[in-house]
Amino acid sequence: MDKVYLDNAATTPLSEEVIDAMVGTMKMNFGNPSSTHSFGQEAKILIENVRRQVADYLHVTPAEIIFTSCGTESNNMIIKSSVEHLGVERIISSPLEHKCVSESILDMKARKGVEVVYIRPNEKGDIDLNKLEELLKASDKKTLVSLMHANNEIGNIVDIKKIAELCKAHNALFHSDTVQTMAHMNLDFSDIRVDFASCSAHKFHGPKGVGFAFIRKSTGLKGIITGGPQERSLRAGTENVAGIVGLGKALELSLDHMADYARHIQEIKDYAIERLSAEISGIKFNGRSAEKESLYTVLSALLPYKNPLIGLQLDMKGIAISQGSACSSGASKPSMVMMMVLSEDEMDHCTPLRISFSHMTAKADIDALVNALKEISADFVIEKTNVEHR
Ligand code: PLP
Repeated sequence: MDKVYLDNAATTPLSEEVIDAMVGTMKMNFGNPSSTHSFGQEAKILIENVRRQVADYLHVTPAEIIFTSCGTESNNMIIKSSVEHLGVERIISSPLEHKCVSESILDMKARKGVEVVYIRPNEKGDIDLNKLEELLKASDKKTLVSLMHANNEIGNIVDIKKIAELCKAHNALFHSDTVQTMAHMNLDFSDIRVDFASCSAHKFHGPKGVGFAFIRKSTGLKGIITGGPQERSLRAGTENVAGIVGLGKALELSLDHMADYARHIQEIKDYAIERLSAEISGIKFNGRSAEKESLYTVLSALLPYKNPLIGLQLDMKGIAISQGSACSSGASKPSMVMMMVLSEDEMDHCTPLRISFSHMTAKADIDALVNALKEISADFVIEKTNVEHR
């Protein structure tokens, strides 16, 4: 059975070039970057080259890039250290955030007594920036705003430049979870004045187990993992040299091909919208995901029937797809994002499906999905008819 992979927001396949670069590093550059001898220094140079490459992409200084193990660690570090070391007493966020952000915030509420205020999105998943401004004006407490750049389930994009300006005007710090947009969009942090951002290499054909945090120097943020002086003492622990090299190679490939990849993926997404709309009667799309301004890699569909087993049924037909974010897909509760954008009736009677693409996705993959969905919805009607006749 030919397999079809449509879950690129969960993770992406590694590029061959990334694998080659990593294998070469593992074979040739096994030195500990903290060692002063040549083995260590060669490994150190590899890390510093990638740091400079990332800094150039974001238009920041290399000292503002801290390598971590993943997006989750970067977001934890930023939120928890803002409270523990920068005196943040209040966090403004939204219920649309990834769990690694929302749980870090709740942890700070429980353990440090931080006040947490959520901006509830409308049914399209939009965050009202007037409401944000009102909240920023309403308190003198030292505030951190944490709002993700692009949502991993519905692909809505927020205007992080505007939010950063609002935060600056009201003396608040601004963290944006940029895990879904890093290396997929041009990001110039000399213009977009976010204080903190996060990245995970496996979202753009790099390896798992490596990411980075952007930490604007002026904030003075400290780390939460203590030990040696690695990563300018912000993140102790021997560096994942091969992983960092893999991140660098994946970033290089993404930047070299960004316009072509974006054009191809948008074309695939348009094709998916067109075919699903034509073939699955009553299908809808959630949030802003079917609109041009959304993240081009994500399409969130709503099937007009309830089928909690749809992921499993598609998997049995060789199609890998998720219903929400990968980390909540095993959960029995519907995702918070879906609870925000769907009506109660839709929650009871419909099935969300997240289709996410990469430059490796082909129109034939979409055809396979549409055919499988047609078979499944036919199964469903038969089952339903049987039940009704019993
Ligand atoms: N933030 C967002 C928006 C994500 O989509 C993910 C991964 O699904 C993460 C954070 C966590 O990244 P990682 O898997 O590297 O921990």
